[in-house]
Amino acid sequence: MRWDLYYRGSLSSCNYSCGYCPFAKTRNTRSELARDRRQLLRFQHWTARQTARLGILFTPWGEALGHRAYRRTLIELSHQPNLERVAIQTNLSAPLQELAEASPRLALWATYHPGQTSLQRFAAQCARLDDLNIGYSVGMVGLKEHFADLTRLRQLLPPERYLWINAYKRRSDYYTAADIDFLKSIDPYFNYNLHRYPSFNTACQAGHRSFAVDGEGNLRRCHFVGEVLGNIYESDFARHLKPRLCPNQTCGCYIGYIHRPVLQWEQRFGPGYLERIPKSGSAVNLPEESSL
Ligand code: SF4
Ligand code: SF4
Repeated sequence: MRWDLYYRGSLSSCNYSCGYCPFAKTRNTRSELARDRRQLLRFQHWTARQTARLGILFTPWGEALGHRAYRRTLIELSHQPNLERVAIQTNLSAPLQELAEASPRLALWATYHPGQTSLQRFAAQCARLDDLNIGYSVGMVGLKEHFADLTRLRQLLPPERYLWINAYKRRSDYYTAADIDFLKSIDPYFNYNLHRYPSFNTACQAGHRSFAVDGEGNLRRCHFVGEVLGNIYESDFARHLKPRLCPNQTCGCYIGYIHRPVLQWEQRFGPGYLERIPKSGSAVNLPEESSL
């Protein structure tokens, strides 16, 4: 039995200032950071007591990898026998050298934010990860004004490095057919992110094989359904994990739709599905999205 967990503690701050983001240039107080560290430690201790195999993706509000407590936790978790994968979403601005101590089970989900750092500096951080032999995926939001950056980033990265693109979905008619062709030429899986999947009352492994955990241990299906199912710090919390149907009308984020069984994402994408690293750059093995 393997569980995939999405952990998001109470941290809510970031060193970058993306205009659309509520955490832009926000700072937590010392006591808030201390509370987040306590939560993180408690969660880490909990993972060590589990008999299930675990995959964990840290999905912080803001940027966590810049905090040493997170880097140490990731390194230690990567060596824990029941951890098959530990990964974190990051803007990749943090110092990386320390991560050389991690096992190959550590991976990063790195997002490039135009205007917050140069492409050269971001690509240099990616090259650093290559030097350290740390797995990672790289991505951007597919805004039209950033198409030139996407092209340049693709050129700066090694050809085998997957570059994912999150579709801008707030406007249904945002992309032209030519835009979609361009984005698919960079990300062969782009079509799977382009739509919001109708999901109401359909099967989803969220709340069964996969779940989200907050700093207090509250257990939810995923980050997109607010209902609390239980708390991982209850001794019998696993009784809350069972096959479930999605209560939302649609599901549009990678960290959500990959748990819809109809996509068979894990089997087809490969063992790096949590941190978004495909086993190959080709999407030929995925079913046609029109059948989903
Ligand atoms: S890097 Fe991420 S968390 Fe930080 S301001 Fe930008 S979008 Fe927000
Ligand atoms: S389909 Fe998406 S929104 Fe619905 S429960 Fe699954 S992950 Fe959550």
